[in-house]
Amino acid sequence: MNHERSKKLYARAKKVIPGGVNSPVRAFKNVGIAPVFADHGKGSQITDADQNTYTDYICSWGPLIFGHGSDIYYQDVDRALAKGTTFGLATEIEVEMAETLVDAFPSVEQVRMVNSGTEATMSAIRLARGYTGREKFIKFEGCYHGHSDSLLVKSGSGTLTFGEPTSAGVTRGTAKDTLVATYNDLDSVKALFAENKGEIACVIVEPVAGNMGVVPPNPGFLEGLREMTREEGALLIFDEVITGFRVAYGGAQELFGIQPDLTTVGKIIGGGMPVGAFGGPAEIMAMLAPDGPVYQAGTLSGNPIAMHMGLNTLRYLKAHPETYDVVNARAKRLAEGFEANIKATGVKAVVNRCAGMSALFFTDQKVENFSGVMTSDTEVYANYFRKMLDMGNMLPPSQYEGIFVSLAHTEADIEKTIADNRKALEAIAE
Ligand code: PLP
Repeated sequence: MNHERSKKLYARAKKVIPGGVNSPVRAFKNVGIAPVFADHGKGSQITDADQNTYTDYICSWGPLIFGHGSDIYYQDVDRALAKGTTFGLATEIEVEMAETLVDAFPSVEQVRMVNSGTEATMSAIRLARGYTGREKFIKFEGCYHGHSDSLLVKSGSGTLTFGEPTSAGVTRGTAKDTLVATYNDLDSVKALFAENKGEIACVIVEPVAGNMGVVPPNPGFLEGLREMTREEGALLIFDEVITGFRVAYGGAQELFGIQPDLTTVGKIIGGGMPVGAFGGPAEIMAMLAPDGPVYQAGTLSGNPIAMHMGLNTLRYLKAHPETYDVVNARAKRLAEGFEANIKATGVKAVVNRCAGMSALFFTDQKVENFSGVMTSDTEVYANYFRKMLDMGNMLPPSQYEGIFVSLAHTEADIEKTIADNRKALEAIAE
């Protein structure tokens, strides 16, 4: 495959954009090749700057539930554009979006729109602190909630101490209020509550972890968090930026039947436009400005074009619940195909899946938390990625990201990817 134009664009980009990209994973650092620059997408297919075409399993990291360029996102968007792209005043379509989100999540009575998942989780943490009057919070190692300072923290593997910043530029002062527990391990959460009695404002969790590959919650884990946070007077925040409208219309909270106190969403709700939102009971949301003391704002929050494309997406999903059956069936077939290939080739690998999200780890261990993820051989993953790319499959360029299947993925796409996976695993087994 020829990637000359992508390589030239990368060289040009590196002069004017740090690392040549606007988000680190796009640099393909983990897979040892120059990044592929996208040119356009249609349905399940993405075409790069050199006009190579791939079946796309990134789907913009989750938002594109109908695949690329679907008319569903764009319906009547010309009319919305003609009305104006931004006003800095309240608009009717923001109310419609809020009503749609409230209708989707029984745990949510009020919702505030923001421009990204990062803003949603950052604001939800501030709100939880303002509401409880407590300063510390718990997150899980390997869970990503965007790049705000207090969330860019994880503890050293296996330790349950005060957080160490994961990024330069995050102060120890900020990091010390971020406590880090182990995913799928309720005892680790219990220990932090015991050591910090009456000081923990909230627990934030990806109800299905999607930023260390894919790690579903073990039975009882989310239930345990719900119980423990209630007992301790802390709020439970489900970060459904990936899972919202993906694992079910009402997200992981619908799938697992658990109501958090606060919910954050993003990705799918913007229909491909930059967006995020957080919501919860009116009593808690009333703490936000202008009615309450917790400040939160945004020039482009509730942007009418983002609301329009997002509502087109959500209305279709609500009217077509069978979308989830199709997406889940395709993702299931893909995972089962990979599993059969793993067995047949004898390669040490496991597949994790929840609904339309999955990940293949090159390890023989069960992967149910961050240390399980760390047993995966990333060199083998990089080799596998390159082989799959050469055969026309755009997988995540990192072991630590999930595979997303959209409504546009056909049975033929899935079968071809399974066949290519077989060839790649056979070559790895040699
Ligand atoms: N929360 C989760 C679970 C995410 O996966 C992400 C991004 O991938 C975020 C928050 C941050 O969202 P954004 O990249 O829109 O800021």
